[in-house]
Amino acid sequence: MKLKKPFIIAGPCSAESEEQVLSTAQALAASGKVDIFRAGVWKPRTKPNTFEGAGVEALPWLAKAKEMTGLPIATEVANAKHVESAMPYNFDMLWIGARTAANPFSMQEVAEALRGTDIPVFVKNPVNGEVDLWCGAVERLAVCGVKNIGLIHRGFSGFGAGALRNAPMWHLALEMRRRMPELPMICDPSHICGCRQYIADISQQAADLNYDGLMIESHINPDVAWSDAKQQLTPDALAALLDSLKWRAGESTSESFQTALMGLREQIDSLDREIFQLLAERMNVAEEIGKIKRENDVRILQAARWDDIMERALARNSSLGLSEHFIRTLLDAIHIESINRQNRVMNE
Ligand code: PEP
Ligand code: MN
Repeated sequence: MKLKKPFIIAGPCSAESEEQVLSTAQALAASGKVDIFRAGVWKPRTKPNTFEGAGVEALPWLAKAKEMTGLPIATEVANAKHVESAMPYNFDMLWIGARTAANPFSMQEVAEALRGTDIPVFVKNPVNGEVDLWCGAVERLAVCGVKNIGLIHRGFSGFGAGALRNAPMWHLALEMRRRMPELPMICDPSHICGCRQYIADISQQAADLNYDGLMIESHINPDVAWSDAKQQLTPDALAALLDSLKWRAGESTSESFQTALMGLREQIDSLDREIFQLLAERMNVAEEIGKIKRENDVRILQAARWDDIMERALARNSSLGLSEHFIRTLLDAIHIESINRQNRVMNE
C-alpha cells in the first residue's frame, strides 16, 4: 500500500456524541493536515464500568463527518460483529487494537469477517512485546485476502515505561519493519505517551526513524473526553505540533555531507573493531579465571564481585553520559558470556 508521506490519522479516542464527532472532524479538516479522521466506536477498556464506546449508534456520526468534511474515516474493530456493522458505513480504513492483535482467536475471527472486502486494515502492535504475534496477526489477515495492510506502533505495556504509558521499545517496531518492509509503519505517540507532554518528542523520533506517518488522538475539548483525556490534543494544538515536526530526507547528495558522513562511519567501524577486540580479550581473561577456579575448587558465580563491577561501572558513568539502562544491559550480556566461558573451562 502506497501512502502519502507523512500520512496523518487524527481524531478522538472515542466517538462520544454526534456533536463532538462533527465539530472535531470539521476543525481537523480545516487544518488541512489530516489524511484520515479516526474515532473509536467500540472501546476496549482496562476496567469495567468505564465508557466502552457508543457502539453502532456512532457509526452514522462518522459517515456524516465524512460527508461534511470530505475526510476519509477509520475506526477500530475487534470482532466479526464490529466488521459487519461498520461495512455499510463506507469506512476507508479499519484498525485492529493492541489487545485484539495479541489474541489469535480474535484475530482469526476479524480476518475471516474481512474476507472479500477491499478495505485497508492497520494492525497495532500487540500489547506484549512479541514480534511473532504481530506478524501472525498480519498473516491471518493476508491469508483471508486482505491486500492493503499497514502497521501501527503504539508501544508495549509491562516493560517499565517510566513516565510514558507504554514503552516504545523502538527496536521491536524496527524488527517488525525489517521482517515486513513492504508494509507502511505509522507511529501512535498518543498511546505511547499517555499524556500530551511527550507527544511531540515521540513523533519526531518516529519521523527520524523513517516512519510513514502518525496516528494522534485529537478532541475538540480534550479535558472532558470520556476516554484517554490526558493524551488528546485540541485540533489547534495538533496542527501546531505537526508544523513543528521535521520529516528529514533519507539521503543527501551534498558532497560535503557525504564526505563528513563517510569519515564518521569509518570512525564508528574502527571503534567497533576495537570494542570487539577488547571484549575478546576480556573473555580470555575470564577463561583464565575459570582455570584457576577449577584448579582451586572454587565455584564460578560470586555475586558480590559482580555487584561490585556493576556499581563501579555505574559510578564511573557520570562522566561518560551513557544511560543506566544501557550499562546494565551491556554488562549483563558480558556477564552471561563470561559465565558461559568459565563454565566451559570448568567442565573441560
Ligand atoms: C485507540 O487507538 O484508541 C486504542 C484503543 O488503542 P490501543 O489498541 O493501541 O490501546
Ligand atoms: Mn485511546
